[in-house]
Amino acid sequence: MNALAPRLDAARAEAPVGTPGGAPAVSLAAQVAADFPILTRRVRDKRLVYLDNAATTHKPEAVIEAERAFYRESNANIHRGVHWLSQHATDLYEGARERVQRFLNAARSEEIVFTRGTTEAINLVAWSWGRANLKPGDEILVTGMEHHSNIVPWQLVCEQTGAVLKAVPLTDRGELEPGAFEAMLGPRTRLAAIVHVSNALGTVNPVAAMIERAHAAGALVLVDGAQAVAHQAVDVQALGCDFYAFSGHKLYGPTGIGALYARHELLAAMPPWQGGGDMIRTVSFEGSTWADPPARFEAGTPNIAGGVGLAAAIDYVTGIGLPRIAAHEHALLEYATEAALRIPGLRLIGTAPGKTGILSFMVEGIHPHDLGTILDAEGVAIRAGHHCAMPVMTRFGIPGTARASLAIYNDERDIDALMAAIRGAQRMFGTGARP
Ligand code: PLP
Repeated sequence: MNALAPRLDAARAEAPVGTPGGAPAVSLAAQVAADFPILTRRVRDKRLVYLDNAATTHKPEAVIEAERAFYRESNANIHRGVHWLSQHATDLYEGARERVQRFLNAARSEEIVFTRGTTEAINLVAWSWGRANLKPGDEILVTGMEHHSNIVPWQLVCEQTGAVLKAVPLTDRGELEPGAFEAMLGPRTRLAAIVHVSNALGTVNPVAAMIERAHAAGALVLVDGAQAVAHQAVDVQALGCDFYAFSGHKLYGPTGIGALYARHELLAAMPPWQGGGDMIRTVSFEGSTWADPPARFEAGTPNIAGGVGLAAAIDYVTGIGLPRIAAHEHALLEYATEAALRIPGLRLIGTAPGKTGILSFMVEGIHPHDLGTILDAEGVAIRAGHHCAMPVMTRFGIPGTARASLAIYNDERDIDALMAAIRGAQRMFGTGARP
């Protein structure tokens, strides 16, 4: 009997993924595939099977065209220009900010600060709010499943302020230890910085309840939404979070653009973190004064075309509807999980009942990097390694995982190709045969 079989059975029993009554997985993929020009590309003389969407998603024609049209018809620098084109570009950029506001249901557009992405958004909060508010002995509480970008900025700011970073431990299924978050919140906790959806495990954290608990303990809450916004509707007012960060490129938008949502009263009290043009009210050699938010946090010429592209991506995604996207991806994850559990020697890492479309796994006897390379030869693009979540790998005692991550254009054919390529790798390594 396969030594892993009991664990796979347990994993199967523990992983009731999928949305009952969800739309058939193929329908949405078939509908949108033609929107993504790159999907017609052949890779290594094979059909491209792109399952690295947690790293970055592909861009629909609408996003590509919005950026192209900006440079062809609307390009100018924003905010300071008196000429027509500058005002036009400013309107497009500020219109994009309003789209992000509506997308997250923020109360006002001034609560949206454009950044390069999630990483920069978290660094902004760490350097501005963190340095101004943290004192020696204060605590920042993160979870054991954070991406490095929600760990390292806090470590850097802890070094400067004497604050202490603590992490909530994980269960074997890749969830937060029950009760641990609440137990670790204390009178010294100033901020809980928590990931909405884990990029390494797929776990969806119960952020609304966590925010309530943290607020009751007197702490602010930052949510890392990098892996959430493309897969489920997010309403920052309903969540009640203080900060919410995301990246455009994981939401079918361009790279180099993302946003930080922050409650206005917090932003209004926060000092600048970068100096330069556009973030000032007055400048003299005696001293300078700051613009109101969000300009105070957007020094220098921003990624204007990226903002316009991000707005197009938001229009694209909301045009399809996030509930429909979630149903499609859940159904496909269920299909993929079932197929994965039929492969002898495959161990799923991350079997929480509530997951988005991320399948992290190890295959007995094959290093994840070797697996990634062999799959690539079949045109199947996955990610292998620690996924910028080294503490997760340490928790599970593994060097890394192979990770397939889903998007709207994936379908059962992609999963079948993935599973066939894994079985091919097992044949190559002489592993995986049922004893
Ligand atoms: N947080 C999570 C959960 C992520 O998955 C990622 C990227 O993979 C990031 C943060 C960082 O995003 P970016 O590199 O776009 O800033």
